Amino acid sequence: MTEKSDRCMSCGVTLIGPIGARFPCPDCGEIIMRCNRCRKQSNSYTCPNCGFVGP
Ligand SMILES: [Zn+2]
Ligand SMILES: [Zn+2]
Repeated sequence: MTEKSDRCMSCGVTLIGPIGARFPCPDCGEIIMRCNRCRKQSNSYTCPNCGFVGP
């Protein structure tokens, strides 16, 4: 069984429990994950599936 770790798409920090936000990519629906810090700072993210870059 592989343990999947959720990582912030912006800074790469590992998200544990309720920390961070998960939302589908507006372009392809892939789940994007961001930590609270990046969400606060409105850091940009890149979708690993389609390359969409968004705030
Ligand atoms: Zn982050
Ligand atoms: Zn996407």
